[in-house]
Amino acid sequence: MAALLEAQGLKAFYGQTQALHDVSFSLQSGGITTLLGANGAGKTTTLKAISGVLRSERGEVTKGTIRFGERRIDGMRANEVTKLGLAQVFEGRRVFEHLTAEENLIAGGHVQSGPSVKQGIDMVYTYFPRLRERRSQLSGYLSGGEQQMLAIGRALMSRPRVVLLDEPSLGLAPRLVEEIFGIVGRLVKQEKLSVLLVEQNAAMALAVAEHGYVMENGRIVLEGPAAQLRDNSDIKEFYLGLNEGGTRKSYHDTKHYKRRKRWLH
Ligand code: ATP
Repeated sequence: MAALLEAQGLKAFYGQTQALHDVSFSLQSGGITTLLGANGAGKTTTLKAISGVLRSERGEVTKGTIRFGERRIDGMRANEVTKLGLAQVFEGRRVFEHLTAEENLIAGGHVQSGPSVKQGIDMVYTYFPRLRERRSQLSGYLSGGEQQMLAIGRALMSRPRVVLLDEPSLGLAPRLVEEIFGIVGRLVKQEKLSVLLVEQNAAMALAVAEHGYVMENGRIVLEGPAAQLRDNSDIKEFYLGLNEGGTRKSYHDTKHYKRRKRWLH
């Protein structure tokens, strides 16, 4: 089956600094694919290269191709990419704090016409009932979890086929993370959405994804079905914090190993 989204040989720079080296991956239609890796591995840069926002952050894709369906999207502007049906939810949520929750959704629907903005809002409230309750509140006063829901809801307003989701679990309590991933799972099934999920929470990401990629130093160093990655001893050790016997290592040990060991041969 042809991939819905496919990157081939991406190189990207911020000024003189190379952030991506020959990054290739693909995303099948309908499901969650995760991109794992430590801080600074290049995950966010990969998402921004796809969505077209890298340029506005003084970054540049210098080589490689990105295909979305039949179209080449490398070189396209972010708003063109959004119109084609690909939306990014940024790390750190970035809601418009001085607007209400509903106004944020309306802002997210700017590529739609009137009636479908209304339908979009109804759809978002169906999946995120908490946002309906909070619709008139300034989003700066929403909890972290609610802001994350709003950031996802706002992306859904452009009716995407693919959502690039950057660290939705960041700074949230485990119960909320589960709630949000539960909703994302339903969106994938019921709305036939495909998600490229960047996560530091590897246990959660590999529990919900079908396929995964591991990045280190701007390169993809490991790839496979999520079940296979969960069983991989390096993944267990460095991302799930488990040792050979399956017991949890101390944070200090794991962090120490992370600094020493590299995926690259
Ligand atoms: P994190 O989980 O911390 O967000 P990441 O895997 O998403 O990490 P990136 O944010 O893609 O990593 O960063 C990849 C590399 O590019 C890092 O070395 C980072 O310092 C650098 N970088 C990221 N953004 C910029 C920028 N705007 N200007 C210059 N360098 C940047």
